[in-house]
This record gives sequence, structure tokens and C-alpha cells, in this order.
Amino acid sequence: MKDRKLLMIPGPIEFTPEVLQAMGMPTTSHVAPDFIEAFGRALERLRQVFLCPHGQPFVVAGSGTLAMDIAAANLVEAGEKALVVNSGYFSDRMGDILERYGATVTHVRAPAVGDVPPLEEVESVLKEGGYKVMTLTHVDTSTAVVVDAQALAALGRQYGALVVLDGVCSVAGEEMRQEEWNIDLAFTASQKAIGVPPGLALVLAGPRAMDAFDERRAPVGNYYADWANWLPIMEAYEARRPSYFGTPAVNLIRALNVSLGQILEEGMEARFVRHWRMSEAFKAAITALGLGQVPVSTDLAATTLTAPYYPDGVDATLLKHIKEAGVVVAGGLHPEIRDKYFRVGHMGAVSESDIVVSVGAIESGLAKVGYKFQIGTGLAAAQEILTP
Ligand SMILES: *Cc1c(COP(=O)(O)O)cnc(C)c1O
Repeated sequence: MKDRKLLMIPGPIEFTPEVLQAMGMPTTSHVAPDFIEAFGRALERLRQVFLCPHGQPFVVAGSGTLAMDIAAANLVEAGEKALVVNSGYFSDRMGDILERYGATVTHVRAPAVGDVPPLEEVESVLKEGGYKVMTLTHVDTSTAVVVDAQALAALGRQYGALVVLDGVCSVAGEEMRQEEWNIDLAFTASQKAIGVPPGLALVLAGPRAMDAFDERRAPVGNYYADWANWLPIMEAYEARRPSYFGTPAVNLIRALNVSLGQILEEGMEARFVRHWRMSEAFKAAITALGLGQVPVSTDLAATTLTAPYYPDGVDATLLKHIKEAGVVVAGGLHPEIRDKYFRVGHMGAVSESDIVVSVGAIESGLAKVGYKFQIGTGLAAAQEILTP
């Protein structure tokens, strides 16, 4: 019996064998020629994955929260105004980080959990003027809600705010076109749709963000996050020159280069379509089983994860039964509804068979907790979409 479980949470995700093999290679010097080559290639490939040909990539050891910290520390100065388009848990965190660097933060919140902040409200706040940055959580991992990043970024640009996109649960899965959509800075972390074990913060800063950094009056109030330290390092590796500020995460960066190569081999357009198909199939199964979802309408539902409500009379014990059937899913995260729903990630290397197996395990769990439904209903709905 294999006792390995299929990991279907919104990060860390399942990784490809090639990525895991790179993780397990003997660690080289951070200035070994083949490591310099791998790091340089990874930086070039990040521009292609973020669809940001004129951006400056930064790869720094840390989690996604470090990427949020890097964005705030380098772009805002004490006393500047920041607008947080708040769609949930990670938007709250972005607001806290901005305040830590002295920004005056205004939140525009969604009217209800599972909804998005209205564009008109965002615009009326921007109209007050003087906002240095506006932040968006592209996909809020606590609710599985996706915001209209393109429309919001257009507003930010119109009113002169730097647009910062938390793409930790979107980049390389959900459609995101950084340069075309006028997003000045976007970031993610290795363990989500990028498909590399946890430990790398990945930031892509566009020309306007780099200009704003150059024009700072005060030094960055965070030594490790300061672009003044990291920019020469990124430029050196891309020019295939050895360099040192803080020891790079050698194995993670080798694995990143492998994963980015696989992502680009699939192609960004094909990748967006695959994520959409997997999501459609999984969501069709959830609906066919009679479960609702946290996003208040289907057009607000992300393609990288699904957040189903437990049916009446069912609670988090369901997750234990799903796990016994071989699949690990995640519990609720949003504080207002934490005990009422669960989350299933389907991003990165996720395949059709992963979707089918997950739906099967959920059916098995639902049957065990005594929920009344026709066995196979969810599987049939998923297969309807997966099998042309
Ligand atoms: C996971 C996540 C983060 C935080 O990333 P960590 O690696 O856990 O620090 C931030 N924002 C979003 C949208 C996320 O999904």
C-alpha cells in the first residue's frame, strides 16, 4: 500500500519529480558557474511568467509574507497614503505591513464575505488624491475570491497610485498580465502555483515602482528587504557574474529554474486555460453534490482554488474522512466563517486525475459523515467537463 496522500491545499502544492530532484541535488557554492547560470535563467524566466518584459525580478529567501514586506518597505515612506482594496485575510495583512512602515492606510472593504470591494467605492477614495500606492489581493486564499485586477489597476494608474498586486495565490495559475494590465509591482511565493517547495519570495517590480524607489527621501526601514542591497545581486546573476549579499537558497533557486522552465514549456496561455478547466470541473462537482461556495457569484470565483461550504449538519470532521480516502484538503481561514467551509487548492501541476481523485475522496467523506446524496454525482459532473 502506498501511504502517500495527494496534497490539494492552497500551498504548498504537489511538485513535479524534476523539481523535487533539483531540491535533492548536492548543494553547490552560490558562485558555482552552473548555479550562476541557473539563477540568471530563473530571473529571465520570471519576467515571462509574470508577463512583465520590462520588470526587475527579485528572488529572496523567505515566504510570501516577505514578498509583501519587500513591496511595502521599498515603496512607501512614513506619512504616505496607501489604499488597500480589501477582499479578505491577506488584504488585512497587507494593511498591517503598510502601517508598520508608517503609511496611513485606508481600506475599501467588500460588503460581505465572498464579495469584492465595489469599483465605484475604490474610485471615490482614489479621487481624494495623494495615494502613493494601492494594493490588491488578486486571489484571496481565505475566500477563493478573485478581484478584477485589470479594472482596478486601470483606476490606480488613472489616479496616479502605484498598483501593487498580491499574486501569491494567482501568479502562474490565474490569468495575470502584469505589464499589459499596468500593475507596477506583483509578487508571489514559490510554494503556490509556481510549483517549488516553500522558501522563496518572488517579486517583479515594473519601471514606475523602480523609479519610486530611486526617488525615496529616507532609506528603507528594513535591512534584509532593501532593494539597495538586492538590486546589484539580481543584476549580477542576470549578467552571469558572481555576487554576494546574503547566501541565496541554492537548491530552491535551482528548483525554481526547473519549474519555471516547465511552466514556460506548457506556455502561459495554455496554463491559464488548464487552470480554468480544472477549476470548472471541480466546481461543477461541488455544485452537483449540493454544496455552496464562499464567492457570492461564479464570476468572482478563482481558478486556483475552491472554497465549498459544508452542507447542513456537516462540520470539519469531514476533512478527516477525506484524508482517510487519500486526499489532504484545507480547513477554513477567514475568521468570520472559519468553521463553515473548507478549501481545496488546484493549481500548478494539477492534473485531471487529481481532480477526479479529489472529488472521489470528498464523496467518500460525505458518505461517511451521513450526508445524503447519490454516490457518483460529483464524479459525473467533473467528468462531463474533463471528457470532451
Ligand atoms: C499564501 C499567501 C500569502 C502568504 O504567503 P506565505 O508564504 O504563507 O507567507 C499571501 N497572500 C496570499 C494571497 C496568499 O495566498
